[in-house]
Amino acid sequence: MEVSSLQVERKSTRKISVGNVEVGGDSPITVQSMTITKTADVEGTLQQIYALAAAGADIVRCTCNETEAAEGLAQIVPRSPVPIIADIHHQYKMAMAAMEAGVQGLRLNPGNIRRPEHIKIVASEARDRNLPIRIGVNAGSLDPALYEKYGGATPEAMVESAKQEIAYFEDVGFDLIKISVKASSVPLMVEAYRQLSEVTEYPLHLGVTEAGPPPAGLIKATAGIATLLLEGIGDTIRYSLTADPVEEARAGRQLLEALGLRERKNVDLIACPSCGRAEVDVIDVANRAMEAFSDRKLPLQIAVMGCVVNGPGEARDADLGIAAGNKRGHLFVKGQNVAVVPENEMVDQLVEWAEFINEHGVDAALDRVDLVKAAREAEKDRARLLDEQGADANHTSEKIVEIRKTTTG
Ligand code: SF4
Repeated sequence: MEVSSLQVERKSTRKISVGNVEVGGDSPITVQSMTITKTADVEGTLQQIYALAAAGADIVRCTCNETEAAEGLAQIVPRSPVPIIADIHHQYKMAMAAMEAGVQGLRLNPGNIRRPEHIKIVASEARDRNLPIRIGVNAGSLDPALYEKYGGATPEAMVESAKQEIAYFEDVGFDLIKISVKASSVPLMVEAYRQLSEVTEYPLHLGVTEAGPPPAGLIKATAGIATLLLEGIGDTIRYSLTADPVEEARAGRQLLEALGLRERKNVDLIACPSCGRAEVDVIDVANRAMEAFSDRKLPLQIAVMGCVVNGPGEARDADLGIAAGNKRGHLFVKGQNVAVVPENEMVDQLVEWAEFINEHGVDAALDRVDLVKAAREAEKDRARLLDEQGADANHTSEKIVEIRKTTTG
């Protein structure tokens, strides 16, 4: 059986709409990111929003921390390709201003806006405008009373913070809610979301906050977000990286595609780790291929393999692949050799074939060449390599003999 997506049973949540993007219920899990420009810089912010949308963000958040930012939002929202959420911290009036500016949603940090009357004014206005609000709990900025009650930022303290805010919202009949309980500690955020998902049906926004620069930040964020998604928890995600936010959007999108939770839009590049049998610098070819495909929206799996002996077989499920031969690359489609090309043309040829397959399909690609001739040509290189290197290019059997001598001697 071909398994292309993990069978995850999602916890049932309510569905809300952020502009024209649905979050929760049976809607696809969405990717969010946040601009790092000054929101008052309308052109700069819009440029970043477009870049984020192109990299896979479905929803973008902008800070609304001053009047100029709210005025900027009034110009940004009508020109944005994706819904805009205003990020609000200490001043509830900024939430009111952002709604006036036309944003499609708000994020409030309950640790930073604590007066119930202010929270209720914002929630009532959002209710009247039919706008969703995310309750964005952060382990680092809880109400001091909760730290005291629980002896620190525990999962229970974070869940209670969310529940208190929900109660204020529900008091004024507002229920277009989504919630996050982020922490920079992966175990803490995982446990907080698990507990939260037991007590609420509002959709959840997942994230590991202040994850840091890649690669460590990517690993932390992926560990937390993927763990929860595989338990069926989470309706929308954000990577918080100390990096160009385009990296966040790309990572979010790639994670969902890798888990089979979103339809593939981009190339899934697989590559062998290389070994003593490799005929080319696999890392270099894979990086060049990655670069060549980075801006092309081709929903294909493409393999870069270091040798023709094992490469085509090991990557037979890929739509397209290349395996390095003796100064030549063997192109294969669904494991079948279709062409042998000079080493310096390998990446260009991969791109050309990928675009052809994307446009015309795998069968048409197989039809455009003489498969028997291509297989014969490829077999010549393969046989020569086997002849030169033998079946054990890494000399494993010799090593095993030596190991046995050492351990039994
Ligand atoms: S045997 Fe070939 S395909 Fe497999 S890791 Fe080594 S070079 Fe790559």
